[in-house]
Amino acid sequence: MSADLQNPAFHNDDKARETLEAIRWPNGPFCPHCGNSDQEKIAKGEGKAHRPGLYYCAECNGQFTVTVGTVMERSKIPLSKWLLAMHLMGASKKGVSALQLQRMLGVTYKSAWFLCHRIREAMTPAKRGPIGGQGRTVESDETVIGGKAKNRAYAKKPPKKHSVLTLVDRDGDSHSFHVANVKARTLRAAMVKVADRKSHLVTDELLSYGSIGKEFAGHTTVNHSANEYVRLGGFAHVNTAESRFSLMKRAVFGTHHSISEAHLPRYLAEWDFKWNTRKINDGERAALIAKGIEGKRLTYRPTN
Ligand SMILES: [Zn+2]
Repeated sequence: MSADLQNPAFHNDDKARETLEAIRWPNGPFCPHCGNSDQEKIAKGEGKAHRPGLYYCAECNGQFTVTVGTVMERSKIPLSKWLLAMHLMGASKKGVSALQLQRMLGVTYKSAWFLCHRIREAMTPAKRGPIGGQGRTVESDETVIGGKAKNRAYAKKPPKKHSVLTLVDRDGDSHSFHVANVKARTLRAAMVKVADRKSHLVTDELLSYGSIGKEFAGHTTVNHSANEYVRLGGFAHVNTAESRFSLMKRAVFGTHHSISEAHLPRYLAEWDFKWNTRKINDGERAALIAKGIEGKRLTYRPTN
């Protein structure tokens, strides 16, 4: 997808539909009801009597469009605005707030809010592989987000703090979670689910890492307070996780201000997605989001 804001797909719903069809169906449409992809048995509805983009499946006698079975199904928001929102959210380093999207797209706040969360859903991979592996270095770092009263204009008490754990393969992907606390047992439970223990682990000197570190192929700790990031010839640093965190913190304090516990996993998925796609261009990233809309409708539950 061209990332140029002049791309007609961002302004014209027919073009947007064609773009989305090309991304989702590179080998021609398939029926989301029965899985039929035999092009002989799929007919496109032509002419004014048909809804645009409607297909008929001769295998199950069903009808479908490119948005059936996706986070976009039954949405009243025009397709061109969906694509533009995907591009804006994917291209923004600090994240886009619903308010910002409301202004940029000329939609209601409620629509913008739903767009944001459904697009985050599309950014969430259906399946994730382990972080790290043999011969790879995994950084683990924890941070606390929220909790600053000065970012809230009217609230009397500071918003709740949330601990977030991020595991980053120094040459690969990151995976972040909300954790109840940073005690050894909690961190271990989260880490063994995600990190490949054949990796070399690099962490700060938090005592909680002491025993879990022994389960990895190796464990190096970095003393933050002494600023010894370059110990061992530059190896012992957690800069990768830290730059990942700085991106996230800028998003929280600069864009979203406060994030509720219920929505936190989706924001974390957005930051992981941006980190994991940092080497591709904005157009490729937007296309990846558009591909990610598939099969998510059933798992999506609006929380308000
Ligand atoms: Zn069918």
